[in-house]
Amino acid sequence: MHPDLDKAAALIRSGRLVAFPTETVYGLGADALNPAAVARIFAAKGRPASSPLIVHVSSVEMARSLAAEWPDTAELLAARHWPGPLTLVLPKRPCIPDAVTAGLPTVGLRMPAHPLALALIEASGRPIAAPSANRFTELSPTSAGHVGKSLGDRVDLILDGGSTPVGIESTVLALTPRPTLLRPGMISREEIEALIGRVELLSSLNPEAHPAPGLHARHYSPRTALVLVRDGQLPEAGRGIYLKPGTNMPETPRDYASALYSTLHRLDEAGYDWIAVEEPPDEAAWAGIRDRLKRAATP
Ligand code: AMP
Ligand code: MG
Repeated sequence: MHPDLDKAAALIRSGRLVAFPTETVYGLGADALNPAAVARIFAAKGRPASSPLIVHVSSVEMARSLAAEWPDTAELLAARHWPGPLTLVLPKRPCIPDAVTAGLPTVGLRMPAHPLALALIEASGRPIAAPSANRFTELSPTSAGHVGKSLGDRVDLILDGGSTPVGIESTVLALTPRPTLLRPGMISREEIEALIGRVELLSSLNPEAHPAPGLHARHYSPRTALVLVRDGQLPEAGRGIYLKPGTNMPETPRDYASALYSTLHRLDEAGYDWIAVEEPPDEAAWAGIRDRLKRAATP
């Protein structure tokens, strides 16, 4: 299917790093069951060891072989949303190395909706641990070119599958002890509640009960100062650009998310003093985009 697929699968099996497209962003993948391979991910990204990785699977069966519990909620969500941009956090089995989960007793699992990602997992015969394929705190990559620019030869192979359609990272949902949204994304809390009932928000809980390491406040940032604005209230000094849905950015959340990182990557090269982004509406469908913009914004 892809000329580099066999080579990529062999690299994964021998503990090396392969960047590959998913429907959300490009991932920096390694064999999730090989601690030395997983260590290479953290080293290549400059990512702190306290930040757990999502493990990508090609079937529900593979997910069940990695999770110590598979509640009815997982069954319902996987049936409806997998393959897709939804990560389920469940108690892990001992076969998952501690480095993958940053020492947590739980693991984040996801079946990506991208033919090349699924083919890589299948061909290597391994679950693949993969964070976004960029240096820590940089913007996530939505094209093979973005990966090369950020990681260069820190990655053994980049599987080029064009640009990634969803465009922002997956929704992350913990299922035990009770459903809790750890990171919003394009699958909204409302859609999840329609299937499994009440979903708590991380902020409304005692953080001790649901640790979400890796949710660093500053993340996903361009180098150019990004300011969130309302009603076009732009910075007075310097030269910049103003992004607004319905004018120079897409009007629907789906198309906006798909365009967001590639737009920021491009504008980051343009030498502006600032990028002003009109704050999107405070609505469920925009929650994932609002979250990423808040993290990308210059404090
Ligand atoms: P990234 O792969 O960089 O998009 O980030 C993965 C995110 O998934 C992390 O920031 C965590 O918030 C979340 N995550 C992964 N595994 C776990 C886990 N075991 N418990 C809680 N959150 C997790
Ligand atoms: Mg990332």
